[in-house]
Amino acid sequence: MKDEFERNIDYLRISVTDRCNLRCVYCMPKEGVVCASHDDILRYDEILQICRCMTRLGIKKIKLTGGEPLVRKNLPWLAARLKEMPGIEKVTLTTNGILLPLYVDELKKAGLDGINISLDTLDERLFSRITRRDMLREVKAGIDAAYESGIPLKINCVPLGMPGQDLMEIAALARDRNIHVRFIEMMPIGYGKNFAFQGEDEILQTLRSSFGPVYPAADHLGSGPCHYYTVEGLKGKIGFISAISHKFCGSCNRIRLTSQGFLKACLQYETGCDLRELIRGGASDEEICRIAGQVILNKPKGHQFLEKGIRQEESHSMAQIGG
Ligand code: SAM
Ligand code: SF4
Repeated sequence: MKDEFERNIDYLRISVTDRCNLRCVYCMPKEGVVCASHDDILRYDEILQICRCMTRLGIKKIKLTGGEPLVRKNLPWLAARLKEMPGIEKVTLTTNGILLPLYVDELKKAGLDGINISLDTLDERLFSRITRRDMLREVKAGIDAAYESGIPLKINCVPLGMPGQDLMEIAALARDRNIHVRFIEMMPIGYGKNFAFQGEDEILQTLRSSFGPVYPAADHLGSGPCHYYTVEGLKGKIGFISAISHKFCGSCNRIRLTSQGFLKACLQYETGCDLRELIRGGASDEEICRIAGQVILNKPKGHQFLEKGIRQEESHSMAQIGG
C-alpha cells in the first residue's frame, strides 16, 4: 500500500533474534545486548501470521535479519514457509556468514533469493577489533559456501574510518567473481554514533584511483535504495547505500518488524505498534491489517540524522532493530 507521501511500501525487514555470535563495536556492547527472554521473541507461527497480513497490505519482499538470523533454530524452515506464501515474491537474508556453511544447502532448498554477508575488513587483527571475535576465517568460508551455492550474493561493508580498514581490498572481492560489494554509510544510531563518517564521494574517488574508470550502472539490482557502479576490471558491481550523503527517504519502500514484534515504519524513530501484544491478545487478521496499515500510512517523511533533539528517537541498538 501507499503511505501518505505516495511511497509504495512493499518490503519488510524481519529481525528474527537480537542474539549474535559477533559483537561488532558499532552495533553491540561488548557483553552483548540484554537479550530478550525466549517468550518475548515472536514465535515462527506469529511471524507467519503477521506476514500473511502484510501481504494483504502489499508487502512482496522480505529480508530476514537480526542480530544474527542464523543463530535462531530452523531459520531455513521459516524461509521456506515465507517463500511459499502467496503474495511473497522474494525472501532474502542478511548475515555475518559464520553459520552459512552449515545452512546454505537448506536455504537453497528453501528457495532463498539472495544472501547479503556483512564484512568490514579482510585484515585479521582489525576484524577481531571490530567484531570482538576471531572469526574472519569462518566468515570467508561462509562467503565461499554462499558463492558456490549459486544463491545471488552481495557483500555489505560499513566504512568505520578506522586506520587499516582497507575498503579497496573489500571492493576487490568483486574482481573475479560475480559478487556485488556495497558500502553502507554509518548511520548515527546506537553505537554507530561513536564512529567517524566516511561518505560515498570519498570512496568513489579511491575506487577510481585504485581500479580506473567508474560508471553509474544502468540496471537497478535488488529491492532497496542501493545504487550501483560498474568499475573497470571488476566483474561484480560496487554499490552504495548512502543514507546520509544521498538521502533516499523520498523513495523508501520499507518497514521493519523487530524480534519482539514491534512494527517500525522508520529506522530513526521509535514510533510504530506492538503487533505481538495484538496477536497474543487474540486480534483477528483484519484487526492486525487495520493497525499495521495505520503504521504504514503514518510512515515518517524522512530521517533527521543530522539534527539534534529529535522526539521519539530510536533508543535500541541495530542488533535489536535488525539494521
Ligand atoms: N548480523 C547480520 C549482519 O551483520 O549482517 C544481520 C544484522 S546487522 C544489524 C545488519 C546490517 O546492519 C549489517 O550489515 C551491519 O553492518 C549494519 N549496521 C549495524 N549498525 C549500523 C549503523 N549504525 N549504520 C549502518 N549500518 C549498520
Ligand atoms: Fe552481530 Fe550483525 Fe551486529 Fe555484527 S552487525 S554485532 S554481526 S548483528
